[in-house]
Amino acid sequence: MKREIDIIRSPHTGYCFGVKRAMRLIEQGLADYGSPIYTLGDVIHNPPEVERLRSLGVMPVASVSEVPEGGTLVLRAHGVHPELLREAERRRIRVLDATCPFVQRSQLFARRLAEDGRVVVIVGDPAHPEVQAVAGHAGGGVLIVRSPAEAAAVDPIERAGVVIQTTFPRAEAEGVVEALRGTVADLLVNDTICEATEARLEAALALARRVDVVLVIGGRNSSNTRRLLEVCAGSGVRSRLVESPAEVEPSWFSGVERIGIATGTSTPDWLIDAVLEKIPRDPP
Ligand code: SF4
Repeated sequence: MKREIDIIRSPHTGYCFGVKRAMRLIEQGLADYGSPIYTLGDVIHNPPEVERLRSLGVMPVASVSEVPEGGTLVLRAHGVHPELLREAERRRIRVLDATCPFVQRSQLFARRLAEDGRVVVIVGDPAHPEVQAVAGHAGGGVLIVRSPAEAAAVDPIERAGVVIQTTFPRAEAEGVVEALRGTVADLLVNDTICEATEARLEAALALARRVDVVLVIGGRNSSNTRRLLEVCAGSGVRSRLVESPAEVEPSWFSGVERIGIATGTSTPDWLIDAVLEKIPRDPP
């Protein structure tokens, strides 16, 4: 008898609000000013989509100095260091700001904490572009901590304020804040975690509990995609990260009845559809 496979998609797939907004801005930029337009680094952490955009004339550059004078630069959803904005202005570069409003809120909180004379503590990954940009908006001299052990090792501080990387896992952030309370006398905490990523994680975990295998579609360079994979795999279900349709192996579905689909916040719908197409109708 022919076996039926159920493909169950998480209710939270495809672009999040901030990435949708960034992509709209890019489309508008191409329509209004023509190609090429430039992005600082990859505009989103999804290599297949970055390649598609490149074919339309959206070119990633490593620094503002690579953008010709009078050119058009899109700031990615993660935001940028304010010094880059000043450099763009000096060189008369047209800037389209796709910084996600939730990230802008973190930048604003960090600036206010610094103006209030508090030490600014960012809970997050020091290598993440969003964290580096928020640090820049605080005027530099910030502390960046990513684990309770790092927080506990901080020298005693009289007054400090916290902002949290928008995509940082809540449970881990709470552990870091708890450790900071032991070393900071007066600690003000701004909860800047993005609900879109939290809801996505919760939905992926619920999905993982109902299926035999989960495909997490997204870029390997996307921290929220890797986090989804960790959470799904941690629930004990077989979990695969799929960056491009060519990676899908028919053998993954041997004996499988239910497949779950979760995606990172920068995974385009066309890529999800292309991966779904590769799932065999008659699995081994
Ligand atoms: S994950 Fe949240 S903070 Fe990041 S771009 Fe999307 S909506 Fe904005």
